[in-house]
Amino acid sequence: MTDSFHPPKRVLMGPGPSDVDPRVLEAMARPTIGHLDPLFVTMMDELKGMLQYAFRTRNALTLPVSAPGSAGMETAFVNLVEPGDTVIVCQNGVFGGRMKENVERCGATPVMVEDEWGRPVDPQKLEDALKAHPEARTVAFVQAETSTGAESDTRTLVEIAHRHDCLAIVDTVTALGGTPVETDAWGIDAVYSGSQKCLSCTPGLSPVSFSEAAVARIRNRKHKVQSWFLDLNLVMGYWGEGAKRAYHHTAPINALYGLHEALVLLQAEGIENAWARHRRNHEALRAGLEAMGLSFVVAPEHRLPQLNAVRVPEGVDEAAVRGALLDDYGIEIGAGLGPLAGRIWRIGLMGYASNPRNVYLLLGALEAILAAQGHAPARGAATDAARAAYSAASDQIKAAAYA
Ligand SMILES: *Cc1c(COP(=O)(O)O)cnc(C)c1O
Repeated sequence: MTDSFHPPKRVLMGPGPSDVDPRVLEAMARPTIGHLDPLFVTMMDELKGMLQYAFRTRNALTLPVSAPGSAGMETAFVNLVEPGDTVIVCQNGVFGGRMKENVERCGATPVMVEDEWGRPVDPQKLEDALKAHPEARTVAFVQAETSTGAESDTRTLVEIAHRHDCLAIVDTVTALGGTPVETDAWGIDAVYSGSQKCLSCTPGLSPVSFSEAAVARIRNRKHKVQSWFLDLNLVMGYWGEGAKRAYHHTAPINALYGLHEALVLLQAEGIENAWARHRRNHEALRAGLEAMGLSFVVAPEHRLPQLNAVRVPEGVDEAAVRGALLDDYGIEIGAGLGPLAGRIWRIGLMGYASNPRNVYLLLGALEAILAAQGHAPARGAATDAARAAYSAASDQIKAAAYA
């Protein structure tokens, strides 16, 4: 006889998933109803409206794909890219590499624009690549590179893409909810995200949104979209306007209740307040980590508040530190990937997990563990520095962080 699975309570401060708001888990435990039930359809319409709020868009084609962030990425590529196309892919970390894979599997040719891991995408390099490849129809890049904590300038990159008659695909899996994503104001053509990073929801859903220009390209494709499941022409039959909904696949009903609740919470907080909260908790964490003698991978002006990548100090066993955080404190942080493997830690402050309690918990725990490894920072300096950073902000914002 196998027993029920009872996971421990962790504090998820890695690159995702991040802590889920208890109200989201509660919403997911509500009764399952039919995916064509009129009340479910009403909930879907609300969900769509709240996704438009989160993406800051009026795009009609805005919906959650029934699969994780990688499926949102794939949805963007399989619908917008046709065999024989040239796609400029900017890579400055892990996820640009995954975009390249997508382009190749669409039968198209990726042209890579490479930047060092930890640096943002260089707009000049994109401009040069577009000049060298006038045949390119699409530009793709990651706004918030979760593997390094670097943020690229989406507004500028999209503007360059449009000047060269390209549509822009932007990965905002880690960005959405934590840092501004202005889909309409910046003119993004295809944007996708994930439920489990700054939206405080469980993993498994990928909000996406497509501009009118993107929809026109999808409607005028020469080849059928090679994925039946992700073909937006078909998905729209279920997620489209009005009462005429047709069965496409069985929606993940309870998961959608969860996303609905997560977006209700985001609206209640106000997305600008959520950005400010992520920024403020980042500043306190940064002050504490630096007081401990740790240094950031990314330059201050390109740092994501929700993903803090710091270098492992000389002589410290990075995996042992992560192990002690998990075993002794129940805190999960992330390791480095690719060229940064073994050299950095990635500390997430995403969504519900971005709060002062977690900042103090992590700083206190890390200080004690590093001291045990012989890297002895001045005891108490980190939490003192975080406290000073918080008190520099107004009491009003402080209260909102717990609300
Ligand atoms: C997490 C992440 C993804 C993939 O999302 P999954 O839900 O793991 O499939 C894609 N892009 C970025 C930037 C991410 O951080």
